[in-house]
Amino acid sequence: MNQSDVLVVGAGPAGCMVAGELARAGRSVTVLEKHAAPSPLSRAFGVHARTLEILDSRGMADALLANGTRARGLKLWNGLELDLGVLPSSFPFLLVTPQSNVDRVLESNAREHGARILRGVTVRGLVQRGDGVTVHGRDAEGREQQWTARYVVGADGVHSTVRTAIGLDFPGKELLRSIMLADVRLTDPPNGLINVDAGTDCFAFVAPFGDGWFRVIAWDRTDGAAESEPVDESRLRAVLRRAVGTDYGWSEVRWSSRFACDERQVSRYREGRVFLVGDAAHVHSPAGGQGMNTGIQDAMNLGWKLAAVLGGADQKILDTYHDERHPVGKLVLRSSGATIRMLLLRSVVARTLRNIVSARVLRRQRAVGRIAGMFSGVSISYARRRGEHPLVGRRAVQIPLIDGTVTTALRDTAFLMIGENDCSRTDIPRRADHGPAVLVRPDGYIAWAGRSDSNRWQAVRDRWTAECSASISPAAT
Ligand SMILES: Cc1cc2nc3c(=O)[nH]c(=O)nc-3n(C[C@H](O)[C@H](O)[C@H](O)COP(=O)(O)OP(=O)(O)OC[C@H]3O[C@@H](n4cnc5c(N)ncnc54)[C@H](O)[C@@H]3O)c2cc1C
Repeated sequence: MNQSDVLVVGAGPAGCMVAGELARAGRSVTVLEKHAAPSPLSRAFGVHARTLEILDSRGMADALLANGTRARGLKLWNGLELDLGVLPSSFPFLLVTPQSNVDRVLESNAREHGARILRGVTVRGLVQRGDGVTVHGRDAEGREQQWTARYVVGADGVHSTVRTAIGLDFPGKELLRSIMLADVRLTDPPNGLINVDAGTDCFAFVAPFGDGWFRVIAWDRTDGAAESEPVDESRLRAVLRRAVGTDYGWSEVRWSSRFACDERQVSRYREGRVFLVGDAAHVHSPAGGQGMNTGIQDAMNLGWKLAAVLGGADQKILDTYHDERHPVGKLVLRSSGATIRMLLLRSVVARTLRNIVSARVLRRQRAVGRIAGMFSGVSISYARRRGEHPLVGRRAVQIPLIDGTVTTALRDTAFLMIGENDCSRTDIPRRADHGPAVLVRPDGYIAWAGRSDSNRWQAVRDRWTAECSASISPAAT
């Protein structure tokens, strides 16, 4: 019972996502989680377009869409707006929904596919051997226990025990202390956008949950309170007024808390048989709402690779997890950090310059597309090898098919082959446009592109079958 293919430490969004992917591919996976029950706290409130595409490719987006509200853009400083409607995605918005909803959907999905989630288990350390890893900790009854697996995924958040156990530092710096957040009922609410603005010594975000309740996040440079101190409602309300000029008819608070944020990233996402995903690997400013989203996307990237290697694929695929996801984490640190620094500019000259430059940038359609693409994750792509088709590493969901969509096709398969419009094969989906045939990875990125009538098609199929034998679906063979 204490032996699995993969042990995942932590049942947050990143842990449940990777467990779901492994279980879906038929691997035995056990999740060890120290909390006896799922967290009711709604830390993250936004699910971005790329995360929705990923969840949709596993049939999980509808449950979230039914319980969330769609923010079609962001209202920034000086009345500027970032329109998400320009996104080349079926989800051209930010879905505002409490993190507890996302956690619930991901945990149910993992359990439905057969992942074991053991709650009340606190992991205290691990030892790597040549052919596996032994994890030790305390179970729900307080007994010392050991669990073994071929691989371990540390999805245990910012204070990761797994990261410490494999000897990795978490370099970076403290960013902001004592940020206040609250769920507030507003009687004179803002438009359907995420509203972000700042005074010279404070900032605030306001996001609609769609049911009259709003998430308010605010920070005040003069507030020296410890994170453990309760939020003073009148102070939070005053900070909101200073930052955005109104309290939007503040009427009632149902929950409030404080948090601190750092900017940190591990230098390696893999150490032998142990991998880090989500907050265990990177943390950053809450600007842009990227943490949960990036963690889910890390998990999606790692899940199919581990499943493939457990099915006999070459282990070198596992190195591509760090190669692909570390740069994405680094970019998120940079962009969310830059946003918060731009918000908090103090000198009048710097703020005026920011307002002029950002107004100019946001008047250009291409720049809006680029910023919205980065913010939503849809512009993430992975490096390709020399000589590979320029489409390799790009996301595939935007490819139009004659029947159905790439996203729905990915629900029933691992790798997906798509023929050109005039492809003679009848057993695979065909493109509705004039692009090349492609092989799509389980996480929705293009692994190969070319002509389906060439010998290359066969060679590609053979290569991927050899590398990822267990993950090649019947549709791709
Ligand atoms: C106020 C706030 C607002 C945010 N807003 C957004 C947003 O809008 N969008 C967004 O994308 N992100 C947002 N985030 C960030 C987001 O909440 C995190 O990035 C996300 O929860 C990270 O997911 P994770 O699975 O990596 O880690 P976590 O959610 O932290 O999960 C880690 C799990 O590991 C368990 N664990 C820890 N140690 C052990 C151990 N030793 N043994 C067993 N189990 C262990 C924990 O109990 C926990 O369940 C926000 C964060 C905060 C604080």
